[in-house]
Amino acid sequence: MKLSDIKNNETVVITKVLGHGSFRKRIAEMGFIKGKQVKVIKTAPFNGPVEYKILNYNISLRRSEAERIEVIPLEEFVTPPHEGFEGVIDRNIIIDSTSPRAKTINVALAGNPNSGKTTLYNQLSGSRERVGNYSGVTVDIKKTTFTAYGYTFHFFDLPGTYSLTAYTAEEIYVRKFIYEETPDVVINVLDATNLERNLFLSTQLIDMDLRVVVALNMFDELSKQSQQLNFDKLGKLMGMPFVPTVSSRGEGLDDLLQKVIRVYEGTEPTTRHIHINYGQELESSINAIRDIIKVNKPITDKISSRFLAIKLLEKDQQVLELMSGYPNFMEIAAVTHKEIKRMESLLNEDSETIVTDAKYAFISGALKETMHTPKPVITSMSDKIDRILTHPKLALPIFGLILFVVFYTTFTLGAYPMGWIDKGVLWISEGLRSIMADGMLKDLLIDGIISGTGSVLVFLPNILILFFFISLLEGTGYMARASFIMDKVMHKFGLHGRSFIPMIMGFGCNVPAILATRTLRNRGDRLLTMLIVPFMSCSARLPVYILIISAFFTKYQALILIGIYAFGIILAFITAQVFNKLMFKNKETPFVMELPTYRMPTMRNILFNMWEKTKHYLKKIGTVILVGVIIIWALEYFPRTTERTAGYETTIEMLQVQADTDAAAAQLLQQTEMEMESDRLMNSYIGRIGKVMQPIMSPMGFDWKMSIALLAGLPAKEIIISTMGVLYQSNVDESTVNLQEKLINEVHDRGKLKGHKVFNTASALAFLVFILVYFPCIGTVAAINNESGTWKWGAFSVAYTTSLAWVLALITYQIAILII
Ligand code: GDP
Ligand code: MG
Repeated sequence: MKLSDIKNNETVVITKVLGHGSFRKRIAEMGFIKGKQVKVIKTAPFNGPVEYKILNYNISLRRSEAERIEVIPLEEFVTPPHEGFEGVIDRNIIIDSTSPRAKTINVALAGNPNSGKTTLYNQLSGSRERVGNYSGVTVDIKKTTFTAYGYTFHFFDLPGTYSLTAYTAEEIYVRKFIYEETPDVVINVLDATNLERNLFLSTQLIDMDLRVVVALNMFDELSKQSQQLNFDKLGKLMGMPFVPTVSSRGEGLDDLLQKVIRVYEGTEPTTRHIHINYGQELESSINAIRDIIKVNKPITDKISSRFLAIKLLEKDQQVLELMSGYPNFMEIAAVTHKEIKRMESLLNEDSETIVTDAKYAFISGALKETMHTPKPVITSMSDKIDRILTHPKLALPIFGLILFVVFYTTFTLGAYPMGWIDKGVLWISEGLRSIMADGMLKDLLIDGIISGTGSVLVFLPNILILFFFISLLEGTGYMARASFIMDKVMHKFGLHGRSFIPMIMGFGCNVPAILATRTLRNRGDRLLTMLIVPFMSCSARLPVYILIISAFFTKYQALILIGIYAFGIILAFITAQVFNKLMFKNKETPFVMELPTYRMPTMRNILFNMWEKTKHYLKKIGTVILVGVIIIWALEYFPRTTERTAGYETTIEMLQVQADTDAAAAQLLQQTEMEMESDRLMNSYIGRIGKVMQPIMSPMGFDWKMSIALLAGLPAKEIIISTMGVLYQSNVDESTVNLQEKLINEVHDRGKLKGHKVFNTASALAFLVFILVYFPCIGTVAAINNESGTWKWGAFSVAYTTSLAWVLALITYQIAILII
């Protein structure tokens, strides 16, 4: 029988995993090994991936993957008498006391995704890094330094991994960090409710001979499940102290730090260097390989030779490459090959599975000796919630509703504080206008800096609200469900369900979204996702949309906003489909994704997350945007005079005298002043640049000011608004200070359309489309360059987005003109 044939709610036992290497390995590491029970939970919408329960956690597989797993009914399964628990091999090495060492300890946090590493890190450091309840939030190593108990601690928050194979970019990252930075102590954060799978990573840390302290996190939930764990005994068995923690409430962290110090000082009795006993045959193979590796001092001084030997036995490509530089590489390769062949024919399994099985045998043996499960696990709250949220029929409508609520609330609720900020900025500039003496400084301050940055600041509330929701969705664990629900659709377009998370994150900011593609294993999948992330409308674009939509569309504002976002998504899918066919002949990659337990994120985490964003946004206003604003202002402000200025001035002087008595003269005066300003602007540096660009931009209905604004938006799209704030400021119409109304009243000042309104429904729509699609900001391009490892992908991204923007905006404008 195959796992894919099993009906919902049935429990079966795994007998064999078929399929190719990396799939098998991955799935084995997640606990899909011979003799383990699996329960089928449900299928995602559109006949998508299937959710299973194994080792007391939920995981999703695609149907095609479940086909590769052979199972038998629970009744037919006979428990083998011998579990194969061989315990550990004691090495009797006393760890040297390190008293005279510096009072600095480097600590790395390692653990499965969602085990609570980031929460722990935040609690310890007081720094507030992003916390979320799905894998992939921490894609970079974060470092914090603080002092406690007379020591200086350097803490590193590593990305979450299930294992230390070279399976994902994160695993390679963590492994490299441990080799190269050699932290003094590793804190292995475990999800106590899910020990069997979490301990898998611990067995690899033991292989690496590291000094480890285990943070037995989520201890509150373990207590609730009334499971009794003798963690002291488990710690002794594994040679590493266990400290129970509840990191969301900060409990047990002092004990944890004290343990770290004791382990570092070498005074912790629990700490022993042990070897996991993998059984006679495997041990003899490990030793044979290890003996020839050991000759190479430079590497075995850094990395445990036993770990290298085990990895070679597991056919680890990276370790093989690592060894290839050494003179006896040929011999190493030959012995490895021989031992793999020997093991495989002996046990009739491939070597990776043999090692994984042995590790799991060790874990279940160790747990059997230390854990007492009084009653079978009842349906958890999380499962109940999931019955609704991932219900085959309800899942999609609910997902759609959630997205709608998020965007609708952002738009409506944000309007109030927006008004207040707007009034505040106006009040300040009016105040300054009345007290400052006329001159360049006044112009720079009021028309440049305050007006420019003010028009960006206004959107802070919207961004805060959006981030509140994104943090909430991440923190609760719903984001992983979103991938589960969306996988079938994503897969149709050549994407992976996991691409969905970076795409959703792209709505916040494209830069972290590009970083988040690291969770995708296949390089093709990753590049593809990176290339389409820029179509996800980041929050920087939101202010521009809001401005344009509220100015030119009186009805259906929320719908138009959603429409723009939706258009971006559709574009992303089409692009993915096309690129996938043209450039990436994507290999199938296993879906295998954990659906973490729903947890209520702490309000503190959400608020700090929002504060981080706010800080980031304010910093951007203070730096990039401020510089942008000043440059744009200067380009617009200079040169001050044209050849016609003198003429205008004489006329104005004359008219001023008459204006007091003659109404016609007063009107003429106003018009002349406007003409002078307009003439000056056209001659300004920015006017000249706009003129050069104009032939390209006018077919889309854009005037030169819009072209300039778009140009100014290259560093960051928020600058588009502030530029418009500066450019349309010079509109002599003093009846309003509101940018929106200025845009509505703006007329073309040159060309065929002179005197016509610049913005109409058609040009506004084209403008929206252009902003959505064109040039991802400089930060995003830099991130793409970095992550892809070559500038070519960044350049490619710039080229195709910008040309696509032009084509699409042109089509939009021309069609809209015809219809409206
Ligand atoms: P990471 O992926 O390992 O960095 O995990 P996070 O720190 O992002 O935490 C995942 C989720 O678990 C968040 O919703 C946390 O609020 C929650 N959490 C963390 N530690 C605990 C704990 O000790 N007990 C409980 N009940 N929840 C926790
Ligand atoms: Mg994290």
